[in-house]
Parts: sequence; structure tokens; C-alpha cells
Amino acid sequence: MRIVINGAGIAGPTLAWWLRRSGHEVLLVEHSREPRSGGYAIDFWGIGYRIAEKMGLLARIRELGYQVKEMRYVDRHGRTRGGFPIDAFGRMTGGRYIELRRADLAATIQGALDAGVDTLFGDSVAAIEDTGAGVHIGFDHAASREVDLVIGADGLHSRVRALAFGPEAEFEIPLDYHVAAFEIEGYRPHDDLIAVSHAVAGKQITKLSMPGDSTLFLFVFRDEYLSGNSPASAPQRKSALADAFADVGWECPEILAAMNDIDDIYFDRVSQIRMQRWAQGRTALLGDAAACVSLLAGEGTGLAMAEAYVLAGELHACGGDHRTAFARWQQRMLPFLRRKQVAAAKFASSFAPKSALGVTFRDHVSRLLRIPWIADLLVGRAVRDDIELPDYAFPPVSRT
Ligand SMILES: Cc1cc2nc3c(=O)[nH]c(=O)nc-3n(C[C@H](O)[C@H](O)[C@H](O)COP(=O)(O)OP(=O)(O)OC[C@H]3O[C@@H](n4cnc5c(N)ncnc54)[C@H](O)[C@@H]3O)c2cc1C
Repeated sequence: MRIVINGAGIAGPTLAWWLRRSGHEVLLVEHSREPRSGGYAIDFWGIGYRIAEKMGLLARIRELGYQVKEMRYVDRHGRTRGGFPIDAFGRMTGGRYIELRRADLAATIQGALDAGVDTLFGDSVAAIEDTGAGVHIGFDHAASREVDLVIGADGLHSRVRALAFGPEAEFEIPLDYHVAAFEIEGYRPHDDLIAVSHAVAGKQITKLSMPGDSTLFLFVFRDEYLSGNSPASAPQRKSALADAFADVGWECPEILAAMNDIDDIYFDRVSQIRMQRWAQGRTALLGDAAACVSLLAGEGTGLAMAEAYVLAGELHACGGDHRTAFARWQQRMLPFLRRKQVAAAKFASSFAPKSALGVTFRDHVSRLLRIPWIADLLVGRAVRDDIELPDYAFPPVSRT
């Protein structure tokens, strides 16, 4: 089949890789002019880790990844108030747990694609006309074309979803937080591989010192601390963060000052996408576009990769009968994703507490995770993926 995938983040290239195993012709369309950098780190484990292993990507992922040693909660003077070592995650996943930049994971998957996948950067699917026998796709720039299927892997604010399923507001569940993230070179103090986090009511900032000289910052804050909509430009984003975090103490003044030297700032609402169906005719949605779990799940990339694997597998197993394949894929994956969404939404208030009392409570309770059996019990529950991934009879990988 000829298949267009809109979005070359995590889900899109993973799907392209697996579709090539069945010999489909794939066009990836990415609206950024080059692979997105998007300076935030991800935890990577579970079923995503298993898919990466099946794709032969683990060696590269381990090279790019790192093991964070500790989560440390500090007060406005930098005094430790809570926290725990991260080793339970390694223990409870049999060492199959790693952190890496989202952009590095995306580049690793893209780097594994063969010559049968074309990627069109700086463009987007702009029109979808399903004729029943095929789909007529219009682009912002490229000439339109006829294909067999179109897949929206274009993230939380999916354009394919808007074109084929309806406006975002129908499917978005806002979790009442905003998130911002960026990376700075040379920031001091640098606590190698320790995540240091400071929270006041409804606002949290976390600093992760990477091996080398780089530091990643993650801001999470309640919507009420943002006036207006999510800012679009870098100067507007900086000004929104400066306003929200001016009075927060700890290293905030230094971090906000250092932020002025960079332009690449991720900034968005923390939301989920919940849909009753992921496919309609010859169009389907994948990854965050279909079922964003949000950063609170700590697993969105892995889930996106698993959805992609199962979609390609069902298309293969159904001999290209997309209707049956879409139905079987959705039946297998949607209830599992919904359970992940529900669990993630419940976690919001412990991740970034709404009140000062909540912060104190969270900091105290976090110390229980220093006791190995308690950590293993809680982490073991959190990292469990209750789903069987089928083995599809894909032909062996052939490299050209
Ligand atoms: C701050 C933060 C922390 C996170 N932490 C974790 C974590 O610890 N572990 C984890 O596994 N997940 C984490 N996630 C979630 C994870 O990043 C996502 O779930 C995952 O990236 C989803 O993959 P995707 O391919 O569906 O979407 P994306 O990775 O968002 O990729 C979508 C792609 O589509 C492109 N695109 C968008 N619009 C268009 C368009 N109109 N036309 C063409 N292309 C378009 C985008 O440029 C992008 O390249 C985190 C997310 C955030 C925001």
C-alpha cells in the first residue's frame, strides 16, 4: 500500500519502520524544517523498550541514554525536604529503564529507516478526501497525491485529527497544568545525574544535570498562573515563565536569567486526548494524536511505539484489509491506553501539588521510597504494562 504518515516524531517513524517490514511504500511528512530538538528528557521502559529491542535500537539508545541516580525535593533555600533514589525503577524493570532526550529517541528511530521511506520536511497534510477506494491527500506545499491510507502521528495538536475527526476541543481533556522545558549549557550548580525539584503551591521546577555540561529544566504549573493562552513565540514563553516563577525562590532567579540566552523552549498545556475510535475510513490516528497520556504517565513514547507496532502488525496479519486491521488494533490497544490515561490523570496532584500542604505531604511521603521494599512495591505497580504484544509474522529485515 501507499501510506502517508503525518508527523515524524516517535509514533510516525516507528510505524514507518514496521510498515516497511511488509513492503509498504511510506511517505513521512513533518512540518518542522528539520528533526525537532525539543529539549526534554524522557523515561523509557516497558513495552516501548521491548519494541525498541525488536527494532534493534537498544544499543544506540543505551549509548545516548543515562541513569538518573536520585530525585531530590528541596525548599526555597535549597535544603533537602524529601526525595528518593531512582534505583527501584532499574530493579523493577530488570535494568530495562533508561532516560534520554526525546529528540535522541526520535533521531534513533528515524536513523533506522530504510531508503523505502521518503521524508518530507517543512510540509504537512492539509486536506484529506476519502473516496472509499483511496484517499486524495493535499499538502501545504507538495503536489497532492492518491494514497491508500493516511495516518495522523502529528502529536497532541494533530491536524489530521482536526481534518478527519473534528475539533481538538471535542477530544482534549485538559489536566489544568502547563509545562515548559528547555536545555542550557554550562548552568551551575551542576549535580551530575540528580533531578532536583522545588515546588510551591501549584508551581514546580525541576533541574536535571546531564553528564557533561548540559542541564534540562522542566516547569510545571497550574493554568491559573498563566494569563491568556499558551504563548507561541520564545520571547512570550520566557515572559510567561518569568511572571509565573518570579516569586518561587531556590535557584529560580538564576534559571530564569540563564533562560534568556536560549530560544528553543517547549511550552504547552498538559492534556490528554481521549477518543472513542482512532480510525475512520482510510484515516487513522496514532500516538499522542489518538491517545495522548501526557507527561504524567512517563511512558508516552513507549506507548506510541507499541501502538505503531500493533497497527503495522494487524495490517500485515489482515493482508492489507485496513478495516479489519484498524478494528483489531483499536480493540487491542484502546482499553489499555485508557487505563494508562486514568492512572496518569490521578497522579497529577502528587506530581505537582496544588497547595503548600500538598507539597509538604508529598515531600514527606516521598521519603518512604527510600525503603527498598516499599519502593519496589510502588514502582513495580507503576511500571507494569498489562498487555500482551503479539508476535506478528513479519518477513525478516532486508537492508538495501
Ligand atoms: C515535558 C514532557 C515530558 C515527557 N516525559 C515523558 C517520559 O518521561 N517518558 C515518555 O515515554 N514520554 C514522555 N512524554 C510524552 C512523549 O513525549 C509523547 O507521548 C511522545 O512524544 C508521543 O509521540 P508522538 O510521535 O505521538 O508525538 P510527538 O513526539 O509529539 O511527535 C509529533 C510530530 O508531529 C509533528 N507535527 C505536528 N503537527 C504537524 C503537522 N501539522 N504536520 C506535520 N507534522 C506535524 C511534530 O513536529 C512532531 O515531530 C513527555 C512529554 C512532555 C511534553
